[in-house]
Amino acid sequence: MAEADVALIGLAVMGQNLVLNMNDHGFVVCVYNRTVSKVDEFLQNEAKGTNVIGAHSLKEMVAKLKEPRRVILLVKAGQAVDDFITKLVPLLEKGDIIIDGGNSEYRDTNRRCTELKAKGLLFVGSGVSGGEEGARYGPSLMPGGEKDAWPHIKNIFQSIAATVETGESCCDWVGGEGSGHFVKMVHNGIEYGDMQLIAEAYHLMNDVLVMDHDQMAKVFEEWNKTELDSFLIEITAHILAYKDSDGTPLVPKILDSAGQKGTGKWTAIAALEYGMPVTLIGESVFARCLSALKTERGHASRLLRGPETVSFGEDKQKFLEDIRKALYASKIISYAQGFMLLRQAAKDFNWSLNYGGIALMWRGGCIIRSVFLGKIKEAFDRNPNLDNLLLDNFFKQAIQGCQVSWRRVITSAIQFGIPVPCFSTALAFYDGYRHATLPANLIQAQRDYFGAHTYELLSNPGVFVHTNWTGHG
Ligand code: NAP
Repeated sequence: MAEADVALIGLAVMGQNLVLNMNDHGFVVCVYNRTVSKVDEFLQNEAKGTNVIGAHSLKEMVAKLKEPRRVILLVKAGQAVDDFITKLVPLLEKGDIIIDGGNSEYRDTNRRCTELKAKGLLFVGSGVSGGEEGARYGPSLMPGGEKDAWPHIKNIFQSIAATVETGESCCDWVGGEGSGHFVKMVHNGIEYGDMQLIAEAYHLMNDVLVMDHDQMAKVFEEWNKTELDSFLIEITAHILAYKDSDGTPLVPKILDSAGQKGTGKWTAIAALEYGMPVTLIGESVFARCLSALKTERGHASRLLRGPETVSFGEDKQKFLEDIRKALYASKIISYAQGFMLLRQAAKDFNWSLNYGGIALMWRGGCIIRSVFLGKIKEAFDRNPNLDNLLLDNFFKQAIQGCQVSWRRVITSAIQFGIPVPCFSTALAFYDGYRHATLPANLIQAQRDYFGAHTYELLSNPGVFVHTNWTGHG
């Protein structure tokens, strides 16, 4: 009998939690998993006493679904998704819906959309963020793909997603093809950037201001009451205050080599591919790469000298406020760059993206959730065609209010020999973006000199000319 509203394949941590979330909101979910024994284990344990039902084959699962059939895949990204799609296609009918909620690469989603459309099936690639906790109690959901699927999944998606104070759901339709997964990828890239910015602030507090971990925890706690109010600042305060079993802070004992699963790198690659200067995310990925060279750095630290260390003789409270402002300004740049990348991808793929909606989807439920994203939503509400966040009045003034501090922090970091790659790339971007004239005229001349690549004159744009720079034939 067709009794289930939706099926979910993939009973690992994300799948299990999303199933329980859907069940809480009154949807009957039928579950299936490659290792079939996990279906009964789940029903007898985590899902005991719920309305969740199980299936021991895909055929049985499909037979239990109401029409149009909605099947969510939450399996390992890559081949596993294609394998399940191949098995599902002969069992489904025209108008049925397959949703991939894993961290799939957006180009795979583009391809799957096209392939399944040709078979009459509606494919959706949805970003899911917020980890285990989010999946259970309200993730940020970023669905994109075949829009005809949206009316059939909207209620489920918007019911289980996180909400913001106004009651709005952190889920809306993103756009065509792989745009949902593209937006999720950029979200993850921004997450890398936010984390590196916080790490740079920590480095300055630790090495320039020589603060202890409790003092730093207090500062982050205070910052969380300002424009920086966000999940990552909040957990940083908790993390810094955390004590090991011997009563000393745990953080300084952790190996300083950052891991990565690749989505930050994908964002940086996409930025290079679409020609957008998303420098802060790029630097944050490289900062993790540099951190991973732990042994090499240890060796270099014994051989390479920096500036003579001096103690910080200025007002520490004032410098802390400078760091806070540097972090805020750099964060604005990072999000402006992220939205530049989204805009360019939308152009290249002919996606019609709702930028305010994207800010709202990130506003709650996910790792980068923050009050600040509400400000971005407001900027796009004021002007949905805003070319760049930096041109919005609110952000223009916010940067203006931080600028002196931001420059002071980077200058001090340089003097003390403390690396602040994301603070400084953000400022370099800002200074580049606000210059009507950059020295690329010289680069054009050099290209023409050695490669006859030609150049345009300011007085005659669109006409490409070549100069014989050496005066010889
Ligand atoms: P996962 O470890 O990525 O994947 C485990 C699930 O995939 C299991 O159901 C497993 O089945 C199935 N699977 C693995 N290889 C398979 C294959 N070759 N063929 C068929 N099934 C296969 O699980 P997860 O951490 O819950 O994540 C699920 C998806 O959500 C992933 O795409 C992940 O990137 C994404 N995601 C994860 C998080 C997170 O915080 N963990 C957050 C957002 C998004 P068996 O039980 O049979 O091994």
